[in-house]
Amino acid sequence: MNYKITFVLIALLITSALIVLGCTRSIASRQTSEPPLAVTNDSGVSKSVSNGEADSFVPLVADDKADANARDVLIAAGKAKTAPALSNGQWINSETTTLENLRGRVVLVDFWTFGCYNCRNTLPTLKRFDAAYRDKGLTIVGVHTPESDYEKKLDKIQDAVKRNAIKYPVVTDTDGDTWRAFGIEAWPTVVILDKQGRIRYTHIGEGAYDMQEKVIKTLLNESEIKTADLKTEEYKGEKIVKTEAEWRKQLTKEEFYVLREKGTERAFTGKLTDNHEHGDYVCAACGLKLFSSDAKFESGTGWPSFYQPIAALNVTEETDNSFGSSRTEVLCSRCQSHLGHVFDDGPKPTGLRYCMNSVALKFEKRK
Ligand code: FE
Repeated sequence: MNYKITFVLIALLITSALIVLGCTRSIASRQTSEPPLAVTNDSGVSKSVSNGEADSFVPLVADDKADANARDVLIAAGKAKTAPALSNGQWINSETTTLENLRGRVVLVDFWTFGCYNCRNTLPTLKRFDAAYRDKGLTIVGVHTPESDYEKKLDKIQDAVKRNAIKYPVVTDTDGDTWRAFGIEAWPTVVILDKQGRIRYTHIGEGAYDMQEKVIKTLLNESEIKTADLKTEEYKGEKIVKTEAEWRKQLTKEEFYVLREKGTERAFTGKLTDNHEHGDYVCAACGLKLFSSDAKFESGTGWPSFYQPIAALNVTEETDNSFGSSRTEVLCSRCQSHLGHVFDDGPKPTGLRYCMNSVALKFEKRK
């Protein structure tokens, strides 16, 4: 009897121990069954992170040596040109829109045609950009510029958009008007515009996807620069030409020295260096609007400083090799008067410092 009781007790103990061990194992396995969060960096290599957030992005620095037509570099905002309008076409996947309506968003314009093999190869990346950045402020516009008559048929374009599962807006460019306005030469070409509609990046052909993504992230990161209405303020191309005698008659001695003889006023002597009123700074010789108080900042140099002109076309930049150094001279586009120089040590968002002579500018208070 004692043996039987002992046996039953031992059996009960072993069973309990097994149940406890089993529970412990299943809890332990549940605790370790969650996989670590993973992110993919630009090189495509996955790595684990502890808090689920990707590494903080370091914005690209614009190449201030690049001119407005440069390719494969981020063009400085102050040098970039405003993108031409999209010509009237049939919109697929969206209501009819314009680049003007898309101001405030970063816009990637993809010139493509469905019959182009290289164009099709870029679509997976563009679709990925659309999915990842649409809600963050990116709009992709596929401009469909056909190469053959077959590619001009709207139903074929619509089929291709559907077949390729393109969700972003596509606009037809059957006569190639948008293609020519942008100066495009090959399929595919990607053009990326900043929030003010300026062309900041161009790439021809497949590839450069990492760079394109960095440009998108950088431009999304840029604060929208408030300036006067570019459409009305932009220099239209007319020139003012006067003789030296005429300029001497019109300008004061000091104005003539700076504006027409490329002189520099002494630091901290100008009236506008410490001006904090809201308004526009116009050329003292011809009245063309050049800078807005919105882009003025305290440089501490003793000269009025701006991080960008009111419109890129309103100023002309030329290399100045005087005084044994190479600097970039800034001139009024309308009357070719000397205004000052531009340097690449300015603040965000452009990184530029337009260092102007007070005497070269006149201030117009905003009403
Ligand atoms: Fe001028």
